[in-house]
Parts: sequence; C-alpha cells; structure tokens
Amino acid sequence: MNILIVGCSAAGTAAIEAVRTYDWKSSIVQLSDERDPLYSRCLLPYWLSGAIAEEGLRYRDASFHRDMQVTLHEGKRAVRLNAQSQHVVCNDGSIYPFDRLLIATGSSAKLPDNIPGDIGGVCTLRTRADAEAIRECAVRAGGAVVLGGGLIGLKTACALGESGMETTVVMKSDRVLSQMIDREASRIITGRLRTRKVGVLEGSDCSGIHHREGRLVAVVTDQGRTIPCELLIVAKGVRPNVSLAEGTGIAVRSGIVTSATMQTTQENIFAAGDVAETYDIAREEYAVNALWTCAVQQGRVAGLNMIGRKASYDGAVGMNALNIGGIPLIAYGMTNPREESGCRVLIHGKRESALYRKIVLKDHRIRGIILLGRIDDAGVLLSLIRQRTDVSAFEEELMSSQFNFAGLLRNVGKTVIDAYQSS
Ligand SMILES: Cc1cc2nc3c(=O)[nH]c(=O)nc-3n(C[C@H](O)[C@H](O)[C@H](O)COP(=O)(O)OP(=O)(O)OC[C@H]3O[C@@H](n4cnc5c(N)ncnc54)[C@H](O)[C@@H]3O)c2cc1C
Repeated sequence: MNILIVGCSAAGTAAIEAVRTYDWKSSIVQLSDERDPLYSRCLLPYWLSGAIAEEGLRYRDASFHRDMQVTLHEGKRAVRLNAQSQHVVCNDGSIYPFDRLLIATGSSAKLPDNIPGDIGGVCTLRTRADAEAIRECAVRAGGAVVLGGGLIGLKTACALGESGMETTVVMKSDRVLSQMIDREASRIITGRLRTRKVGVLEGSDCSGIHHREGRLVAVVTDQGRTIPCELLIVAKGVRPNVSLAEGTGIAVRSGIVTSATMQTTQENIFAAGDVAETYDIAREEYAVNALWTCAVQQGRVAGLNMIGRKASYDGAVGMNALNIGGIPLIAYGMTNPREESGCRVLIHGKRESALYRKIVLKDHRIRGIILLGRIDDAGVLLSLIRQRTDVSAFEEELMSSQFNFAGLLRNVGKTVIDAYQSS
C-alpha cells in the first residue's frame, strides 16, 4: 500500500509511528514545504529567549525518517489534490499517487487586514524561519508589541521580556489565555508578567501601525494609545491550512471535517492536527483544537486506521501545561462553565503567593481544572478525569493541600492509582 502524508510535524510524525508499530510493508512518502521539519513549534519561544539551544528544538532524531523507512521530500508544497484518481500534485509539477492520504498541513498565523505584512519588524511566529526573523529584528528593537494574549502570544511575550525587551501585550479579551483560564488566574499571571518587563493592555486592539522607511516605529491601539516599538508579533489566532481539500468534494467547515477514525468525507483520505475539525468534549461541539497533544493523538488514530487497524478518537479536550513568568500552570477541559451548565465550581486562591486552584465538577466527575503555582498533584487529578471517576466520596478533599496518593487510596482504592502510574 502507498501511504502519502502531507505535512511533517506533530500529526504527520505520530501517524508514521502508528503505522510502523504494525506495518513495515507499506511505503510511506511524506511531503513538507519546510526545509527543516521535525522540530517542536511549542518550543520556539524558549529558543527565542535563549532558554534552550538549537538542538533543544528537535522533536525526533535526525535519523527518524531513515529509521522509519519514510521517503521525505523537503521544500515541496502540495498544491492540488485529485481525490478520485488518488494523487497529489506539488508546486514543481511532481505527482504523488496514494492508496491512503493523510492531510496534516497544520495551520498558519492570521494577519489582520489593517496590518501590512511587508513592513520590517512586523512578524508572526509559526515556523523556525519566523523565529529566526524575530531574533534578527529583536537585536535592533528597543521595544515590542505582541498582539493577542492567547497561548502563542503570551509565550512569545514572556520570551521577549525574558530576553530583556520592554514588551506590551495588546489584546481584545479581558483576560490572558482566555481559552484556558479564568479572570482570577489571569490577574495573577498579568501581575507576575508586569514584574518581568511585560505589560498587558486588556480590552484593546491594534487600529494601525506607523512606519518609516519601510520599518515599524509604533503601534496604535483602538483606545487611542500610541506605543513606540520596532517589533510587532501578531498572534491573533490561527487559520487551518485547508486549501488542499477545497474543491475536491471533501467537506470543510472550521477545518477539514473528520469522523472518529480521522477519515474525511472522502474514502481513503484522512486529516489530523490543526487542519482537522473534531468533536470538542468540553465545548460539546465540533471545532479545531490547535494543540500539540491533540495533533499527536489524532495523527496516531489516523495512522492506525489508514492501515486498517481500528482506532477511534473520542474527541479533543483542551489541555496545557506551561510556565508563565516562572509560575507553573496546568489547565484542562472546561475551566469556565456557563452558569446554566449545572457545574459545581471549587476555588481556592492566594493572589499574593501566586497560588490558584480551580476544579469544575459535573455529576460528581471532574470536568476541568486550573492549577496555578502548585501543580504537583496534577497527574492524580488528570487520571481521575481520564477514568471519569465518581469523586463524590472525596469532593471536598480535592481542594486540600494534603490531597495526594494516600488520600486517593483511602477513597477510591487501587484502580485509579494503577491507571495513573501506567498513563
Ligand atoms: C509558537 C508556538 C507555541 C505553541 N505552544 C503550544 C503549547 O504550549 N501547547 C500546545 O499544545 N500547542 C502549542 N502550539 C500549537 C502546536 O504547535 C500545534 O498545535 C501543532 O504544531 C499542530 O501540529 P500539526 O502537525 O497539525 O501541524 P503543524 O505543526 O502546523 O505542521 C504542519 C506542517 O505542514 C506543512 N505544510 C502545510 N501545508 C503544506 C502543503 N500544502 N504541502 C506541504 N507541506 C505543507 C507546514 O509548513 C508544516 O510544516 C504552539 C504553536 C506555536 C506556533
């Protein structure tokens, strides 16, 4: 069987590993329009700040494709898909036939219409090449603005602040990481960021920029503020790279529509990662979850189904673990339930010591958590979520600083511990 994978990052790599777990006979060809694939995008901000070296970005060994017996074509862009005759055409006219195709083309950064992308100092952060361009600009820049307070924007702002640059986050929302955390956790984080050269302007947007001789000199906000800066990172969300599927009969909504097997609406064609729309368990609707862990899980399921092994993707749950300005943060699932959702919300916070703990329960099962500052029992809580454990016998104890393995053993016995240790 000929397997063709377009895109070489989290989803594509996971699919290869899933296929090769069982099948060394099928041929695998992979196309990537990047020249240096197999690095972790999530780590780019840490490379920007100098916290990790170049080698630290690597996601798999340099011998990965050889070891997995995959023919990788770098610098090749797939531009057309013929679903009926089962082939893909690249920008150089080369043609790749397939029996099974995985579209793992990820997403691209959005650039609003009022921000010209050809002005020196205006950047987005998606690829290693983008990170290199930002590094070059940062050498000359006295100040930076990051537009967007989501995951990518905030991580980038922290990196710039840590490398000594005065940085301002401009964002429409009333809190940072609005998809992940609530207002109180956001307050703690922004307080910490302010001590690290990163200011946050909530409820603001960029209404335009000033430039001189083709280079950025200032950002203007819709609240009338002018912020002098030589570097602007636009991090206002991502757009799934669906163009390969368009006009082929494959259904596309917010991303390429997929079933639980990660198959698209065309037989033998699968999609996974940032490009794919899947069921979102916490939001209870179909959506694109542009997260590394989701891309890996979906790529794995796609890989297995491509070789006829039954696997199913239950749905995405937003989960993230990061360190913002020295504060560890783990957020999972439904962290901001609507009032009418019938959820019980347990909160314990100490703003002055940057500690915050929130657990969202529904029908005595944990549906979401925010752990800020203290995350040592995150594994146990995540295990309770994954096992869908009924926690009614120890709901109150969940908020205790003593909550740990011993408490769990007393309450639910060994099953949950075993599940945690094998996860
Ligand atoms: C700066 C940054 C920080 C992040 N931090 C986090 C984090 O902390 N936690 C988290 O969960 N997620 C994070 N993410 C998101 C995470 O990186 C993505 O969810 C993940 O990379 C998606 O993987 P993917 O395989 O679907 O696609 P991508 O990683 O986007 O890769 C797709 C690949 O396909 C290539 N491609 C696209 N179109 C074509 C074509 N037509 N032909 C050939 N090749 C093509 C692309 O160039 C790219 O190499 C971060 C992202 C960025 C940019």
